[in-house]
Amino acid sequence: MAGGVNSNFRLNISPTPLVIERGDGAYLYDADGNRLTDYYLGMGPMILGHKPQVIVEAVTSQIEKGILLAGQTAIEAEAARLVCEMVPCAERMRFGSSGSEVIQAALRLARAATGREKIVKFEGHYHGWFDNVLWSVAPPLDAAGPREAPVPFAGSKGQLSTTAEALAILPWNDLAALEKRLAVGDIAAVLMEAAMCNAGAIHPLPGYLEGVRDICTRTGTILIFDEVITGFRIAPGGAQEYFGVTPDLATFGKAIANGFPVAAIAGRADLMELCATGGVLHGGTYNAQPIAMAATVATLKSLTPALYDAIAGNGTRLMDGLRTIFASAGIPASVTGFPQVFHVAFGLDTPALDYRDLARMNRPAYVAFATALLERGVRVLERGAWFMSSEHDQGIVDETLAAAADAVGALR
Ligand code: PLP
Repeated sequence: MAGGVNSNFRLNISPTPLVIERGDGAYLYDADGNRLTDYYLGMGPMILGHKPQVIVEAVTSQIEKGILLAGQTAIEAEAARLVCEMVPCAERMRFGSSGSEVIQAALRLARAATGREKIVKFEGHYHGWFDNVLWSVAPPLDAAGPREAPVPFAGSKGQLSTTAEALAILPWNDLAALEKRLAVGDIAAVLMEAAMCNAGAIHPLPGYLEGVRDICTRTGTILIFDEVITGFRIAPGGAQEYFGVTPDLATFGKAIANGFPVAAIAGRADLMELCATGGVLHGGTYNAQPIAMAATVATLKSLTPALYDAIAGNGTRLMDGLRTIFASAGIPASVTGFPQVFHVAFGLDTPALDYRDLARMNRPAYVAFATALLERGVRVLERGAWFMSSEHDQGIVDETLAAAADAVGALR
């Protein structure tokens, strides 16, 4: 394997990428026999924790019926019905296999519907690893250009440079900048994480999403929420339910199937139907793979109000506890986001409002903290994100806080 891993996001982990043998509940067990309390949660999907019995039973019984059938199945219809019931914008939907891929479908639909080509993408927002969106995700500030008019910054070598011409990169949480750009009339879609959760956790400013919705409607621009992280995680209907603003299209992945490779695009019927009758191609050999659909149904049926309440209580306890630990150690840090997924940024006294604020965080100090936590049996992402599951109970949270206090002490 190139670099010993199968995704670049698993490279360069301090002190070394881990070999994991198994996961159970809130814990991972590595090849050296260490038990680790896991806040990676597969990079977000495992909202029910590792190896939930309800999923194990659902996929075991589905596999008896076959593996890949390339026809419609009752289980995919049930999964689709659940998505449409839970997600406010979902008049119609389609399944895919990864977040990166369904975002491509959303952009294609928006271009077909509007006859325009350009997409507004915000600095610091991540929408998968494909050429046409991997721009200005984590640009160094000295190469990012002015805040109001960022210069597109490639996220990878080998990326087709002309794809940047189809993007307008803007600062997020800035309504005036969007109003000005959309007035030109050449934008097919505005693509955004409705609450930033990937590079850091930032809430939309009060009125921002409502304002974006209004400008998009007035200018005939398709509003796409990338809910790959927020979907089914911060609320059953994702960020659009949480903030009460309905996009035209939305993309989902991660928590939708608790670790099975499932993604979805959902939205207005007239837009989604373009896939069926409007000449827009959307395909995928593994779309709605039946075993993954069984996992989707079992996951979505498990997402009860009681489950969200439990995660919210324990997540809030963890966020508050971390704030207290950092404050008493004199470490400037902001702990922001949602109890189900939050972000710790060292070096920021006040919560960030956009990527330019986030980029000032002290990454080396946080990596040292994450490494010290790992040595104490707690695994967190080095980029600062913490994911919670229903299995992270109060006892586990309190053990994590004790480990965090100890790790902070060891940093000095
Ligand atoms: N959008 C967001 C907000 C993400 O966080 C991710 C992945 O982390 C993606 C899209 C891409 O999803 P995938 O890794 O399933 O292709």
